Amino acid sequence: MAEPVRITFLGGLGDIGRNCAVLESNGRMVILDCGQMFADETQPGVESIIPDFTYLQENADRIDGCVVTHAHEDHIGGVTFLLEAIPGLELDFYGTAFTLGLVRHKLQEKNLAGRANLHVLNDGDTRSIGPFECEFLPVTHSTPSGLITAFTTPQGVILHSSDFKLDHTPVDGRVTDLARIGAISQDPGIRLLLCDSTNANTPGQSTSESTVGPVLRGIFHEHRNKRIIVGAFASHVHRIQQIADVAIEQDRTIVTLGRSMKRNVALARDLGLLSIPDARIRDIADADDLDPVKTCIISTGSQGEFRSALTLMAQNDSRWITVGPQDTVIFSSHPIPGNEAAVGRVRSGLARQGAAIVHSGQVDVHTTGHGTQQELLALHSVANPELFVPVHGEYEHLVGHADLAMRRGMAPENVLVATDGDQLLLTDDGISKDGQVSGDYIYMDGAAEALTEEILQERLLLRDAGFVSVIAEVDLAGREIVFGPVVTSRGWAAANERFDLESGAANEAREAMEGALADSGDIRDMERVSRRAVGRYVAASTRRRPVIVPVIRSTPT
Ligand SMILES: [Zn+2]
Ligand SMILES: [Zn+2]
Repeated sequence: MAEPVRITFLGGLGDIGRNCAVLESNGRMVILDCGQMFADETQPGVESIIPDFTYLQENADRIDGCVVTHAHEDHIGGVTFLLEAIPGLELDFYGTAFTLGLVRHKLQEKNLAGRANLHVLNDGDTRSIGPFECEFLPVTHSTPSGLITAFTTPQGVILHSSDFKLDHTPVDGRVTDLARIGAISQDPGIRLLLCDSTNANTPGQSTSESTVGPVLRGIFHEHRNKRIIVGAFASHVHRIQQIADVAIEQDRTIVTLGRSMKRNVALARDLGLLSIPDARIRDIADADDLDPVKTCIISTGSQGEFRSALTLMAQNDSRWITVGPQDTVIFSSHPIPGNEAAVGRVRSGLARQGAAIVHSGQVDVHTTGHGTQQELLALHSVANPELFVPVHGEYEHLVGHADLAMRRGMAPENVLVATDGDQLLLTDDGISKDGQVSGDYIYMDGAAEALTEEILQERLLLRDAGFVSVIAEVDLAGREIVFGPVVTSRGWAAANERFDLESGAANEAREAMEGALADSGDIRDMERVSRRAVGRYVAASTRRRPVIVPVIRSTPT
């Protein structure tokens, strides 16, 4: 019996975001990606949703390194939280120069760089990490320098696809290395495939990234008498390259807008991944001096993110850019599910100011970075794995991907759908679920400690209906109210009726408290009766249900 391999999924299986898995054998562990996920409007104040790192905290002395497959936030956004969660940990990170450049930036921002050793990988490199021999292969995706990892383990080769597509004409010519995967599949064979499922329910083949360039060229030509603003993902260096190429053809100067856009463009140019001549790129502070029809602004915020550069422009609140009829704004990305409304508001805001809008719903100014069914099948065929676990996707994508593998001919017992928190055991007999750790969402809002579900629930109640406080001081010995009750509210009543309503509520609270005092009640009784009385009044007078917060003190004796 060869030594088993345990795989623990801490995130990324069942929801898109916060990818993180742990591979272990012979008592040693390697972390595979460490991502974060962003909050929606049901999670007020939350900045990051990260995996529950408890399992890693409890086994910190067994961690030998962390492989980061590519530079997207759902793969690297959790690295600082991980180091903060395990104070003594010094961690070796393995990734390409671009990925590690962004990891380094995150670590430096939080003063954690001293606890990380960054090991730069090149295509085709092999490294011994913990209990595994790892081989890293190029993969095409919507950010440069992604890596497929082949882990040689005591249970055979585990191949992790990373986020991938099969693009035969990628902008940088760096294609997914199917030939090497085919060779590994021949000798020694691939035991287990872990494969991206994001587009598992989309039939057909995705279009090449290089088809976007000519579409952009047409739009730039049509709008040649306008200033052009393009919203794109800051990590999508190949999109930025195509935008820049077309802009330069038209003799425009490139201006980057948004912190992450400026940072990523600088890093990609340093590493030779993005080619824009020095003379063709200027700082946003100089944008006003440039001839508008000779300017192309590449901006963050194409997803309608709160306070992002495009959102601020749409609200006429940008420090740098005032949008008007002289502008054409191109949205070179699809809204990610959940962001549609926010993107719609930004587009409307820009149109209201007179800008012409071009987006992916009208013309093909975007293509996906994730392979669709035919590409997934191609990878399955080339890898020809004995076992398969779909990763990276909503639950419906995981199930769809499992179906696809079985339609290709895999036996159902060789295909396993797992979700966050599941632990799998790979042995000579195959793969099975074996144990469970927390797959919970951990909500971070900028404070050192995570937010509890309880705090989130309270925030939602406050957000939905505001709050009403009742403040009073009671002399329990003398059985009298010595101060208040004073009622104060936020988010409950309009300014012109607030005084009357607060006074009315205070009267109700006073009556109820006097009754309780006569019945020799204590402070808890005062709080209970005042909450109930104010609650009744609030509901009857306004039909609203704010949070009611009684603060009743007893006079010191
Ligand atoms: Zn991803
Ligand atoms: Zn990705």
